[in-house]
Amino acid sequence: MTVNDHRLDELALAANGRVNGNHQGRIDRRAVERAAANLLRALGADVDGASLAETPRRVADAYAELLTPQPFRATTFPNDDGYDELIVARAIPFHSLCMHHLLPFHGVAHIGYLPGERIIGLSKLGRVVEYFSRDLQIQERLTTQVASWLQRELEPKGVGVVLEAEHLCMSLRGVQKLGAKTVTSALRGAVRDDARTRQEFLALTTRTTHDQ
Ligand SMILES: [Zn+2]
Repeated sequence: MTVNDHRLDELALAANGRVNGNHQGRIDRRAVERAAANLLRALGADVDGASLAETPRRVADAYAELLTPQPFRATTFPNDDGYDELIVARAIPFHSLCMHHLLPFHGVAHIGYLPGERIIGLSKLGRVVEYFSRDLQIQERLTTQVASWLQRELEPKGVGVVLEAEHLCMSLRGVQKLGAKTVTSALRGAVRDDARTRQEFLALTTRTTHDQ
């Protein structure tokens, strides 16, 4: 079996308006540190005290990590055996940063596809989610980006992506429903249009929802 490595094309993805579309992709850590110190001051904190001395730097480091996607190789293989059933990876953990409140949202992703000519290493499905998670995000956009990426890179007969996440901006403030999950989905091709495939995919992801 030959392995076809094709590296994630940063420029192509940027042109598609994906990662860094919100924060321009360049993090000025010094400026983030200054801004964090100003925020603390505005919040009435004693920034000059010893206990907060390192906080602006830590804040800058944390945001830099949360907003810097890690490139990876999207290894695909020819579907030599002509496998033509759904391939589903369930409950892949992820976390991201809500662009409206700069607070995390976290949960699990369920990804399924109906293979065409090629299949992809299962671990890569998690990497794709992580890649697009490292951005100022909304859950709907993250869901769509993962589905579009798989559709484009793998050209499968169908793709389904379901994300279930708890948003700290919802559970810690505002309506304060601890543990409430927001569910989003993006279905493409046969996973959307073929009733049996769609039902099979949704049954698998619904089962996981109830298990949690
Ligand atoms: Zn939010």
